[in-house]
Amino acid sequence: MSAVTGLPPYDESNIFARILRGEIPSRRVHEDEFAVAFHDINPQAPVHVLVIPRGAYVSLADFAASASDAEIAGFWRAVGRVAKELGLEAHGYRALTNMGQEGGQEVPHFHVHLFGGRMLGRMVP
Ligand code: C5P
Repeated sequence: MSAVTGLPPYDESNIFARILRGEIPSRRVHEDEFAVAFHDINPQAPVHVLVIPRGAYVSLADFAASASDAEIAGFWRAVGRVAKELGLEAHGYRALTNMGQEGGQEVPHFHVHLFGGRMLGRMVP
């Protein structure tokens, strides 16, 4: 277990690591030095995109503790850029990350969900 996240250490064979390496296809909408964004295969809104850092971080906790300032800045700039490029800024959108077991995180590579394209429901845990 990682002291930082309470999750197992980074697994290079996780599905998003494989997407990053191009071993599994994805519908990419953006890529740069720090981040890659692609459509979620099981969309929960008209627009549902995942933004992931290129670096190997298990979760938000791991990313916040271990990524460089440049990676953190570059990643969050990419999140904002992707939302803008997808036309979500005009009406608003939701950015969400699930962290760890109780947070409902399924894929152990840090990712931010971007939801938009309709009036979103209230956030109820
Ligand atoms: O935050 P969480 O880990 O639960 O979300 C994982 C997301 O990754 C899910 O929304 C799932 O649909 C998506 N996924 C994907 N492509 C895969 C595997 C999972 O878009 N090949």
